[in-house]
Amino acid sequence: MTKEMNLKINHDCQAVSNGGAASDADTVSSSRVSSLLASKDRDFLLSPTGNQVKVCDLEGKIIGLYFSANWYPPCWNFNQVLVGIYEQLKSSGSNFEIVYVSSDEDADAFNIYHGCMPWLAIPFSDLDTKKALNRRFDIEGIPSLVILHPNDNKDEATLRDGAELIYRYGVEAFPFTKQRLEELQDEERARHENQTLTNLLTNHDRDNLWGHPTPEQVPVAALVGKTIGLYFSAHWCRPCVNFTPRLISIYQKIKEQMLVDGDQDGEDFEIVFVSSDRDQASFDSYFVTMPWLALPFGDPNIKQLVKHFDVKGIPCLVILGPDGKTVTKQGRNLINLYQENAYPFTEAKLELLEKKMDEEAKSLPRSVYHGGHRHELNLVSEGNGGGPFICCDCDEQGSGWAYQCLECGYEVHPKCVTLTVAANSNR
Ligand SMILES: [Zn+2]
Ligand SMILES: [Zn+2]
Repeated sequence: MTKEMNLKINHDCQAVSNGGAASDADTVSSSRVSSLLASKDRDFLLSPTGNQVKVCDLEGKIIGLYFSANWYPPCWNFNQVLVGIYEQLKSSGSNFEIVYVSSDEDADAFNIYHGCMPWLAIPFSDLDTKKALNRRFDIEGIPSLVILHPNDNKDEATLRDGAELIYRYGVEAFPFTKQRLEELQDEERARHENQTLTNLLTNHDRDNLWGHPTPEQVPVAALVGKTIGLYFSAHWCRPCVNFTPRLISIYQKIKEQMLVDGDQDGEDFEIVFVSSDRDQASFDSYFVTMPWLALPFGDPNIKQLVKHFDVKGIPCLVILGPDGKTVTKQGRNLINLYQENAYPFTEAKLELLEKKMDEEAKSLPRSVYHGGHRHELNLVSEGNGGGPFICCDCDEQGSGWAYQCLECGYEVHPKCVTLTVAANSNR
């Protein structure tokens, strides 16, 4: 199907809008769609090939206002996803249309970008309408997708987080009503309640994982009842490549600790690599460095797991308890904070560690100099100026206590402060 065929044009739309009783001007202003998308001297939108399509053709449709721009890479990523969804919805005859509201810098950028979209656009030259739409829907960042429903003059059914919904639920989110979203949330809740290690990691073609030397097969059944870390990672991702050796060393320490505590029978820990590598060769060269198990490269469960755990960035370590339920999705952060002591990542254990850390922080100097940073760094806690941060020393996530320079936003883990010199000793 060509792009144009998606946009069947109905030029006979005066009759649809207002019974033809009022003047033309009244007809236009009385419709919400027109008042949003048309202007005083324009009653059309542009197709990707530059054809004019009457605004009133959109009456009665669910409309996605798509705020985006050519110059911003995350928009291109989202665009690709949205094109897929749009084409699926169109081919199933759904009552849906998208209108691109451009933040492009010039007409050429607009034309190139809109040319990659199968839907309509506000003409690039109509600055006023684009500005008004941005204001009207409080657009603070792009890509953004605002969903308008027909006969909803007070914007009661309007959804502003369309981009998030598309990423999360894909085509399932249609028709983007509040009721549909509640259904999806209920389904999701049920999926998490029914979650088991077996239904997460196996499918009807495969009930094994890969071990070493590859492709040694380890049955998923052998992992049931253990604490499992699902390690979402990829060789092309620099933070992953930095984090992996740290995780390996912690993994080995947790295993050693288990041998020492030999009395804790049956308690066991394993990690499963969930790869977002782009090809088999990079998967192989990455996995060979890891002492744990993996889902095969390109396995269909990988996409499902990313979706199920709503993994937004890698590296990410999701911890599953012995019952197969999620303990935490913050495994990476907890490893950085507590190293091997984080195991088994349960709330009770973390509470204990937090108390211990607060206790230890009492004996830390209030301020220090570190790593050649020219300002003094002050000790801050989560509730007192601190919060999640990236350590400027080891480049890893942190939270809880930190040494911070407010002036430059420089922040480090207390454990990363090597040369602890009390800064205010002579004041
Ligand atoms: Zn650090
Ligand atoms: Zn500073």
